[in-house]
Amino acid sequence: MSYDLMIKNGLVILESGEVKTDVAVKDGVIVAIGDDLGEADKEIDAAGLVVSPGMVDAHVHITDPGGGYRDQWEGYVTGTASCAKGGVTSFMEMPLNQVPATVDGKSLDIKYDAGKGKLKSDVGSFGGLVPFNLEGGIQELDNGGVAAYKCFMATCGDRSIDGDFMNVDDYSLYEGMKQVAKTGKVLAIHAENAAITDKLGEIAYKNGETTLKAYVATRPVFTEVEPIRRAILFAKETGCRIHICHIACPEGVEEVTKARRAGVDVTCETCTHYLYFDTDELDAIGPVVKCSPPIRDKENQKGMWEKVLSGEIDFVTSDHSPCTPDLKDKDNAFEAWGGISGVQNNVDVLFDEGVQKRGMSLKQFADIIATNPADRYDLDQKGRISVGKDADFVLIKPNAPYTLKAEDLEYRNKISPYIGREIGAQVVQTVLRGHVIYSKEEGVSTDFVGAFIKK
Ligand SMILES: [Zn+2]
Repeated sequence: MSYDLMIKNGLVILESGEVKTDVAVKDGVIVAIGDDLGEADKEIDAAGLVVSPGMVDAHVHITDPGGGYRDQWEGYVTGTASCAKGGVTSFMEMPLNQVPATVDGKSLDIKYDAGKGKLKSDVGSFGGLVPFNLEGGIQELDNGGVAAYKCFMATCGDRSIDGDFMNVDDYSLYEGMKQVAKTGKVLAIHAENAAITDKLGEIAYKNGETTLKAYVATRPVFTEVEPIRRAILFAKETGCRIHICHIACPEGVEEVTKARRAGVDVTCETCTHYLYFDTDELDAIGPVVKCSPPIRDKENQKGMWEKVLSGEIDFVTSDHSPCTPDLKDKDNAFEAWGGISGVQNNVDVLFDEGVQKRGMSLKQFADIIATNPADRYDLDQKGRISVGKDADFVLIKPNAPYTLKAEDLEYRNKISPYIGREIGAQVVQTVLRGHVIYSKEEGVSTDFVGAFIKK
């Protein structure tokens, strides 16, 4: 057999662990793994490199279309180019920030149209659960092929924009979970207590607080833990499978672990930035590092790493949530948009911080960036280097420090809290279904070989 592509001599992360071997690809799929496999049209020499399954970033916000309101936020072209450069071969796209929000069949089609011919990576979709789509919207999204659902327990959305996303109240969360349960798909949840965080924020702002440190104090740990417990209780009642997004404190993870041991179908993620930054450095960086839940203190970060390494956190995401620079350029942190641009710096930062600095195994690295998110959202062709799976790879050069510069970023708006940081590993090549979508020598490919994954 003659293959389309062969990746040779790399340290390949298989399900059984890493092994120095070759991987052969035909028609976009992995067809053989082993030594002396024969000839291929194209060969990639991966000597000295780690060959990992391409990252499945399960939490990415693309704002396309912007609906005349957010037209200069991240689009599909720049967003997926950033994925290519960062080793992300597929991602789960959030149903909010784009206008209209993805909450029914019509808005899902608008989103699919907006991405037509503009994708460099593959995209799975979240449909929204909002108080205003309980009369058929959930079922339309299921029919339209969303892989999962997403809701907010924290306040979100701009009520002056028609069709913008909206957080659930307790009743719509309960009713929505009943409807999502019937689809068999997972509901991902942003769990923060809306009433308390809103009020604490309002009081701090009125008192003249301006710092990120003060902002963090308005979203204390218990305001994460309480809604996680509430969501788990509702899940037990409704039989809905749930996933808690971007947990920022070990106490929140412990609630998930406890519930899972009691038989609840619940998983969780954290984000790269919670494992990298801590409260003390936020004000020196500025509002570009503002997000919610907020980045907590060093002790908390240590606890989060323990939860990752123990396997209690199922996967790590970027929560790539970009906006325009003017919304970050504020003297008062309370007035700035909350959201971090990070999709391009998951793989390199996690490899450095996890594998190189904390001794994480390569197998666990592949699990938390690819295998576990693919499994949770049923992206069955994704997430592992195994015969029959999509030929999605990221080639990583270990122990190769570089300092991230703004011009390295493929984002539409080149802002990121990682700028100026030395990162100890590099993504040198990214392959999507056998196509090289990024290489260090040639940059991001001009082809648009990505596709929407419909379930
Ligand atoms: Zn989010």
